Amino acid sequence: MPLLEITDMTVSYGRIEAIRDVSITVETGELVTLIGANGAGKTTTMRAVSGVRPLARGRIVFDGQDVTRMKPHLRVAAGIIQAPEGRGVFAGMTVMENLEMGCFARPFASKAEHDETVERVFTFFPRLLERRTQLGGTMSGGEQQMLAIGRALMARPRVLLLDEPSMGLAPMIIQQIFRIISEINAQGTTVLLVEQNAQQALSRSDRAYVLETGSVVRTGEGKALLADPAIKEAYLGVG
Ligand code: ATP
Repeated sequence: MPLLEITDMTVSYGRIEAIRDVSITVETGELVTLIGANGAGKTTTMRAVSGVRPLARGRIVFDGQDVTRMKPHLRVAAGIIQAPEGRGVFAGMTVMENLEMGCFARPFASKAEHDETVERVFTFFPRLLERRTQLGGTMSGGEQQMLAIGRALMARPRVLLLDEPSMGLAPMIIQQIFRIISEINAQGTTVLLVEQNAQQALSRSDRAYVLETGSVVRTGEGKALLADPAIKEAYLGVG
């Protein structure tokens, strides 16, 4: 049974169907990516999974439970954790305070579990440890992205939703962020990733879905899609 199973999902903004009959599955432990051009419906798909956009049609099942109509905070409690698009760190709070906010909706059972998770986050992001007393708003773009992902990890995601973590970052930082995402996944966290940076994302994904104007037009293993001439031409800027 997949950890996350989206079946024939349609999401509308008013009369406009942003995505139509989209079906996506994510198995436990996988890193699955959605790629697609601007406006293809990637963010809308993520919003529907986290519960901030209602479905017009279709179904979302998480760990065997129908969550289609479940409120966002209950999905968080169940372990569906999204690191916000555009980073969304609290500018006036320190790095440490930002991290603590991450477990607000999913409190730890014990201090030991809390400390262990903080330590884990600092292992992935040593920079956050160095900067733990710095205000979030004074960090660089890449550091803020690390903080946004670190904060999401504080909620112990059973599936981690990442919406364009490479957005607006310099190429070297993008490499670093993708390496860390791979590492987080390798250590057992299931990841659903939305990316415009198809090259990086596909090379690190178990599987990927290609969205075009609200529909899934292709799916396959990340590396297979990366090698596909049509994908190369459309998404990797080579013919
Ligand atoms: P991008 O990479 O630009 O964020 P995307 O693939 O994430 O693109 P979505 O943001 O999901 O695409 O948008 C899908 C479609 O829904 C687009 O046609 C967009 O114009 C439309 N849309 C998105 N948000 C809204 C909104 N709040 N109101 C009306 N239409 C919207």
